[in-house]
Parts: sequence; C-alpha cells; structure tokens
Amino acid sequence: ATPTALMVGTGRGAQLGILIKGPEVLENTRRADTVLLDKTGTVTTGRMTLLAVHTADGESETEILRLAGALEHASEHPVARAVAAGAAERVGTLPVPEDFAGVPGLGVRGVVDGHAVLVGRRKLMEERAVELPADLARAKNEAEAAGRTAVVVARDGRACAVLEVADAVRPTSAEAVARLKALGLTPVLLTGDNSAVAASVAREVGIDEVLAEVMPEDKADVVRRLQAEGRTVAMVGDGINDAAALAQADLGLAMGTGTDAAIEAGDLTLVRGDLRAAADAIRLSRKTLGTIK
Ligand code: ADP
Ligand code: MG
Repeated sequence: ATPTALMVGTGRGAQLGILIKGPEVLENTRRADTVLLDKTGTVTTGRMTLLAVHTADGESETEILRLAGALEHASEHPVARAVAAGAAERVGTLPVPEDFAGVPGLGVRGVVDGHAVLVGRRKLMEERAVELPADLARAKNEAEAAGRTAVVVARDGRACAVLEVADAVRPTSAEAVARLKALGLTPVLLTGDNSAVAASVAREVGIDEVLAEVMPEDKADVVRRLQAEGRTVAMVGDGINDAAALAQADLGLAMGTGTDAAIEAGDLTLVRGDLRAAADAIRLSRKTLGTIK
C-alpha cells in the first residue's frame, strides 16, 4: 500500500476509536488469524462486586471482612477492589495492614491486626499448606459453577471464609466475538481465573476455545506456543498481567480502559474499551492494505 493509504488507514482508525502506534502495525493486523482475549477487564468490564461471604463455622463475617478488606485495599486487582469496597461498605473503616505483598495471579498476603492473612485462589492456599474445609470447598465450587470468582480467606494458616465476587460481561463482547469469527479469526479466551468461571463467560459470548488458570508469566508462553504452530496471534488485554503477552503477540491490542502497562505494551489501543473495535481494526487494515474492498 502507498504511504497515503496507510495514513488514511490510521486516520480512519482514530475515528473508530482505535489508536494505532504506527502505519507498520497494519500489516500484522491484516495477517492475524488467532485472537487471544483476556477475560477480566477485556471480555468483562472488570468492575467486580462482592456478592457473598461464606464463613466457616464459628467465624464472624465482620472480622473476616476487616482482615480481607484491609489487605485487598492495598491491591489494584479487580477482585481486590470488589473485596475492599464490599468490606468498607459493610464494616466501615478498615485497618491499615502492618505488612502487605501482592502475589501475581494468585492473591495477596500480609499482616492485619497482628494476624497473618491470605486472600486468593485455592492454589495460593495449597502453596502455603492451608487446607480448605469441606463446607468452604462446597461454597467455592457452587459459586464457580454459577460463573462467579471465589477467593479464599485464611487467618493464621487456617481457611476461614470464601468470598464470592462477580463481574459482568461487556454488552458488546458477544457481537465482537461474532464479528471476529466472521472475519475468519479463531477467538481463544485466556485467563488466570478458574476453568468453570472461564467456561461460563466463554459460553456467554460464543468463544469455543478456553485456556484457564494461566499464570501471568505464562500468558506470553501461550502466545509463543501458538506462533510456533505457525499462527499469527493477536492478543487483547487490559492488565499489567497481560503486558508481556501483548508485547510477544504479532499484534497487541490494549483496552483503553486498562492499565498504562498494557497500553504501553500494545501496538494498538481500543480507546473506548469496546471489543468491537478489534474487529473494526482488522477490517480496516485489510481494506487499507487492499485485501478486501
Ligand atoms: P485474569 O487473567 O482473568 O485477568 P489474573 O491472572 O489477574 O486474572 O488473576 C487470576 C485469579 O487470581 C483471579 O481470578 C483471582 O482468583 C486471583 N487473584 C489475583 N489477584 C488477587 C487479589 N488481589 N485478591 C484475590 N484474588 C486474586
Ligand atoms: Mg485482565
């Protein structure tokens, strides 16, 4: 294509809510045949809310929310925001943790009111030898089967509650997936979240392939593996956790509603956080480069 056609392509992109880093990006946009979609914050809004607290026998909901809320207040993860906001709403002012550390893709740990507290996935509990009693395991499985994310709270090495949070699928996601398929791309849902939750979201938006429980550092490896199979991979993501995969992908698309790390790592930004713009970008690149009329 002529430089003028490329300039027109990038200008039209801006009108559609797509920011393109440079005209050279259009070539990979045109060639993409597989599109990896991050779940939380990309296919879903990422604005989660705390729906329920399942406590183990003899535990106080208020006490658990104080501990979990205090720790999660220090984390920026969508799950953490939901827990911190829900806790503040129910118990008021939260204590300040004496110690805090995020464990990427797994949860948070720290010290609150003199107690060692963990909030996160079952895998985080397993790594720290915290067992899940049968009643909490049941609450967790039921929540996940219903498409919700469940995280465990442990205090001083014992699991004391399961918190249920949920997120809404963006209203435009199903149409975006349908359009990507119509353009001949294979959509794949890629998430660190539980398989049951991932399957439920995939079903809702029409994605047939799901890769769940993928650790943040492994997302880029998934991209490499697909590239090794000869695929040209586009990746859409919003989080710090997606940055390496966005950079590794032949085409990285960042949600404009996402983190700066994702936007910096991407080749293209979907300004309005509307996934349909990903399909628009592919169409536009094909048109600009003369593949379709
Ligand atoms: P995604 O790939 O869907 O954006 P992440 O890799 O960021 O998800 O997180 C995967 C899972 O790890 C979450 O669904 C949640 O269960 C757990 N998790 C991550 N960070 C936190 C946190 N701060 N608090 C509780 N759970 C967390
Ligand atoms: Mg995300």
